[in-house]
Amino acid sequence: MKILIAEDEPSLRENLQWMLEMEGYTVLAACDGRDAFERACDSAPDLVITDVMMPHLDGYGLVKALRERESTATTPIIMLSAKADRGDIRAGMNLGADDYITKPYRREELLAAISSRLARKASLDEAALRLRTEASQDQQYDALTTLPGKEQFDKRLATALAGCSGTRNVVSVVCLGLDGFSKINDSLGKIVGDGVLREAAKRLFEHLDQFDASLNVVARLGGDTFVACLTGVHDQAALECAATELLSLLAAPYLVDGNTLFLTACAGASIYPLHTDTAHTLLLNAESALHHAKSCAPGSYWLFDAAMNRQVARRLQLHNALHVALERDELQVFYQPQVRIETGDLVGFEALLRWQHPALGWISPAEFIPVAEESGIIIKIGEWVMRTAAAQAVAWLALGHSGFRMAVNLSVRQFAGNNLPNLVRKVLHDTGLPAQVLELEVTESLALQSVASTLGTLHECKSLGVKLAMDDFGTGYSSLSYLKRYPLNALKIDQSFVRNITQDAGDAAITQAIVAMAHSFGMSVIAEGVETTEQLEFLRTLGCEEFQGYLFSRPVPAFEAVKCFSGYQGRVAPL
Ligand code: C2E
Ligand code: MG
Ligand code: MG
Repeated sequence: MKILIAEDEPSLRENLQWMLEMEGYTVLAACDGRDAFERACDSAPDLVITDVMMPHLDGYGLVKALRERESTATTPIIMLSAKADRGDIRAGMNLGADDYITKPYRREELLAAISSRLARKASLDEAALRLRTEASQDQQYDALTTLPGKEQFDKRLATALAGCSGTRNVVSVVCLGLDGFSKINDSLGKIVGDGVLREAAKRLFEHLDQFDASLNVVARLGGDTFVACLTGVHDQAALECAATELLSLLAAPYLVDGNTLFLTACAGASIYPLHTDTAHTLLLNAESALHHAKSCAPGSYWLFDAAMNRQVARRLQLHNALHVALERDELQVFYQPQVRIETGDLVGFEALLRWQHPALGWISPAEFIPVAEESGIIIKIGEWVMRTAAAQAVAWLALGHSGFRMAVNLSVRQFAGNNLPNLVRKVLHDTGLPAQVLELEVTESLALQSVASTLGTLHECKSLGVKLAMDDFGTGYSSLSYLKRYPLNALKIDQSFVRNITQDAGDAAITQAIVAMAHSFGMSVIAEGVETTEQLEFLRTLGCEEFQGYLFSRPVPAFEAVKCFSGYQGRVAPL
């Protein structure tokens, strides 16, 4: 058995160590609370004895810190101190100490306290192990959280539905999923991830247990998805309240292994008999609603409706069709020209993906790009777009055109694994495109990825000589400090601001601020979605350098795009 002693007074520490070693314990000695905390984290002692008054971190602080860590949350702690007031003792016990012995202590008293604490801990561990083993042997329970598993939930749900009669009897199923849970597992490790799931399960269970436990049940469906069956909720408004209450429980901070984590969760719900009359579809519907909530916003709640099923079916159809779209030559790249406002000269093109499915017709990238991102096929498609656009630019250079750039959109998924710089290098090499002609458009959602690795990837791309632009600027999450650290050449003002720029003072002000800010960071600005000369004139007065939009040209196939080299002045007769 390993005992950790935290004591700043050397002679007391040595005495204690000697006494415990004589009893056959292995002893780790720490000279203050901080030292003790680090040792406890590294070597998982079976018991801790701590003094109260110590430099750096006192005994109270040590107890509190140990209790907040998953691995030491239940380690027995005995406080040993000359502070003998009842208040001192209560403070220690309240923080989670198991015993408090006052100095000068009697040897027998301390040894008895140690052996009784160790014996109690051993029997608790054994009981927990038994519970876990039983739970995992019994597939009906989830081994990690000890909540019912899917099979057990199905049974209880069927019982609840069978018990329904009359019009006021409804049963609701609420699916809950933690937002961004996989990031916790990836960045802080599985132990912390498991701790979060256990805590989430405990909160849900304890909340529902206050009501009629035989009717309401919560289970874990796997991963970070939980499901609750609620029987006492009689209308949609009450269901929304109940679901929102569950969401706020899950959104309270999590203290796991010394980390304080802030998470949100989404919920989707379905009601029997309003949406279906079988248990199976009730759960499927709630899952669709959860999926929908997740795609809308973190922390949101959705009640199922039939249109959701159609959306899910359509996504599935696109998902399957996309996998063969490339091989079947259904994808094309269109090019939309970009123009310098002051001179009317053509300065570049944006490559935009187009998909014509033989049966479904033209499908908008706004619809299929998210599906391609979800399935990961965007990586293959994105590579193809970059190659095709680069080859097109080389063909135009060969025709004698120059002074233009070719912008390609990148999905955040293309940043995973840092293969992007290699891809860019390869495409430039294979096509022979000069690096400075290629521009990569990234979006603000990159800011939600790991900053360090995306920054590295962007700098690496930049060092190859390509340009970088921030697309759809102003619509997402971008802190100024973050923006400054990114090696961007240009900001693209999102078309949602440009659309109302001449009527809406707010949009005009935002656009003006974006232009000023970009310039102060040494970036240029291009406005997207310019459709009218009024918008163009307004942008000119704000000092915006370039524009792209239907006013000059829609995205068009390469053979049309090449005609744009004569520029804006050449195309529209001066007024
Ligand atoms: P985006 O990169 O912001 O592209 C600009 C979008 O605005 C294009 O929509 C373009 O057709 C449209 N647009 C341009 N001028 C005007 C205008 O004057 N008025 C209006 N109303 N719209 C205008 P599109 O082609 O439907 O693409 C939608 C989005 O799909 C793109 O937004 C981009 O985020 C994504 N996307 C397109 N191609 C690719 C691609 O190859 N890879 C990736 N990852 N995403 C792509
Ligand atoms: Mg773009
Ligand atoms: Mg855009």
